[in-house]
Amino acid sequence: MAGYVLKCRKCGREYGGDYRLFRCLCGGVLEVVLDLSGFRGLTHEGNLGVFRYSPLLPSISRQITLGEGLTPTLRLSSGGVEILFKLEYLNPTGSFKDRGSALSISKALELGVSEVLEDSSGNTGISIAAYAGRAGVKASVYVPSDIPLGKYLLIRAFGANVIKAGSRDDASRRVLDDLTESKYYIGHTWNPYFIEGTKTIAFEVYEFLGEVDYVILPVASGTLLLGLWKGFNELLSLGLINEVPKLIAVQACGYDSLSKYLSDVVRTECSESTSLADAIRLTNAPRLPYMAEAISRSGGRLVVINDHHIISAVKELFSLGFAVEPTSAAAYAAFKLIKGELSGKVLIPLTGSGLKYVGGYDSPLYKVFMGES
Ligand SMILES: [Zn+2]
Repeated sequence: MAGYVLKCRKCGREYGGDYRLFRCLCGGVLEVVLDLSGFRGLTHEGNLGVFRYSPLLPSISRQITLGEGLTPTLRLSSGGVEILFKLEYLNPTGSFKDRGSALSISKALELGVSEVLEDSSGNTGISIAAYAGRAGVKASVYVPSDIPLGKYLLIRAFGANVIKAGSRDDASRRVLDDLTESKYYIGHTWNPYFIEGTKTIAFEVYEFLGEVDYVILPVASGTLLLGLWKGFNELLSLGLINEVPKLIAVQACGYDSLSKYLSDVVRTECSESTSLADAIRLTNAPRLPYMAEAISRSGGRLVVINDHHIISAVKELFSLGFAVEPTSAAAYAAFKLIKGELSGKVLIPLTGSGLKYVGGYDSPLYKVFMGES
């Protein structure tokens, strides 16, 4: 594992790895900066899960894993473009978030934390609950009150407390109000170690697929986007790839928080806010300016998608055998909208499982497949 410091994106102050607050004392977000001078190879084959890439991960004395990562990729040709679907929904709790939870819970355990707090639309809450349970750490998860039933029950099933807190944005405010000395805020929107886990997707792409031209991905808190950006840039700095792929961010109507930062935006008609893409309904993500910077610097853009497009995409993905949640389908919907402008290899991480939606007459997938939406 690599030596590292935590560096503030706002004021540049640096902290050691024993630093326990979730952000800089100035209020800025922190980023792990690795010392890669001793780099000898990408993988440590004896390690499980994302820790297989430990030469490019921050040095942490504990390794909590549920076997996340190494997800398969299926190819599909579409009008001269090769789509690479990376099946991130096959991770242990059904989303790519497990990669980030492995790192952030391992770090929490190293810091001697006995209780963690998290705010989440659902997927990260489920994931943190599972990894915290595995580590023997207590977890409380703040969620939107209209969280899909399947997601709610899974957080409870993994043994965490669940607090319904109003909207997704309300959940991220409430969790900070409830912080005390003994409770560690592990929130993935702030936690710098979480991104160290999600960046392993870039390493797998490099190792198994070679270089890709585009990545199209749903964006809310930015952990996937910034993980990919950081991972590909580390590969670039080591001379392993020639170029970082263009990052096409996808957001849903009513929650297009990146619009105000970007000029290159493609949008569908947005007469109402999404009711389907529940995993990307966060508007106050602390890393927003850095997300916009990553999209611009990669040569990418933002696509804003409505529920009508998401419904077609989720139906098509299910017909191909992919049991994804509507938020994951938003990325494929965006691909269909702009595919005439694309060429080469297009990676689409299918981020979250649709199986969490099965059950409940108010579930988004029920509305899609029973024609009530
Ligand atoms: Zn600072």
